[in-house]
Amino acid sequence: MAAEEDRAMPLFAADPDSGELRLQEATLERVLLSDQLRDSPVIPISITGAFRRGKSFLLNVLLRYLRSQSAGGGGDWLEDAPLTGFPWRGGRQAHTRDLQLWSRPLPVTLADGRTAHVLLVDSQGAFDNVSTPTESVVMRALAGLLSGVQVLNVSRQPQSDDLQQARLCAEYARLLASAAGAPHRTPRLVLLVRDWAFPAEEPYGAEGGRHILGHWLAGGDIEDGGDGTDIDTAADWGLAAEELECFLLPHPGAAAAGGDPEFSGAASQLAPEFAERLREFAEWLLDAARLPVREIDGRPLTGAALAALCRSLSEHAARLPPQLEA
Ligand code: GDP
Ligand code: MG
Repeated sequence: MAAEEDRAMPLFAADPDSGELRLQEATLERVLLSDQLRDSPVIPISITGAFRRGKSFLLNVLLRYLRSQSAGGGGDWLEDAPLTGFPWRGGRQAHTRDLQLWSRPLPVTLADGRTAHVLLVDSQGAFDNVSTPTESVVMRALAGLLSGVQVLNVSRQPQSDDLQQARLCAEYARLLASAAGAPHRTPRLVLLVRDWAFPAEEPYGAEGGRHILGHWLAGGDIEDGGDGTDIDTAADWGLAAEELECFLLPHPGAAAAGGDPEFSGAASQLAPEFAERLREFAEWLLDAARLPVREIDGRPLTGAALAALCRSLSEHAARLPPQLEA
């Protein structure tokens, strides 16, 4: 594996015609079933949410942080250099619809001294204008079921359709998990709010996130289900996760948000407050003391166990597609 370049590899890829998500065995073999990971605990961290909202950008920031940690840390890890890793900012490459896995696992030392490997998982193309609602729901449900930490990326503040999606995905995840005999709740779900516009009311970061989340969970500011149904915010999110958290990020500045062709993601091109909070977010999210190793049947999730879980989920997803478009 050392000779091959690190890159994003498809773990589940949508069939271009039917939209059915197909497990990519080559990625299982190369990453999860490698000598390094097969018997070692893994912590998949995925990000899902609408397209063009900085998901891949953010994963590359996490990648930079994890690389710097595994190289011994120190200095300012959010370097002033172009951001690379998962393909980001769209437009340039062909449109794919898949769950992508970063091919290089990143070692972390857990609070109990064990070594585990973080696996970064991107979702590409869900909830965009090409993929079908069914496909998007399956993609997000799969991401949640295989992750130790799932980041749900939302812009400004959750809208009623975010909640409807959360509900559909959680319900489908539960169905799929029960068919596959797997736990249906993601250990840690983080609602990541981008472009938070009310810092005077709730400050950026995890503390403001905790307050606003309490407010939203109590039903504040989110009107109704959009389709006329009542929504139960707490139930819709709570269904999907054992632990629910929220983090508020500021706007990244005009260069990042405005499609400036010169924008490379380098730290000096970001609004200073955004860069500061990005550092804080990565360190908070990836704090080893709070990274959950998922357990299946009382055993920690290893690369081999994750590969088996992916196979089982794939099989059941093919047999049990969500019934949304009837
Ligand atoms: P993805 O489709 O969600 O993976 O989005 P990308 O990571 O490819 O980024 C899409 C665009 O959003 C790029 O031009 C980024 O510079 C920009 N972007 C990154 N982070 C943010 C953010 O926090 N807010 C806004 N408004 N734009 C962002
Ligand atoms: Mg992306």
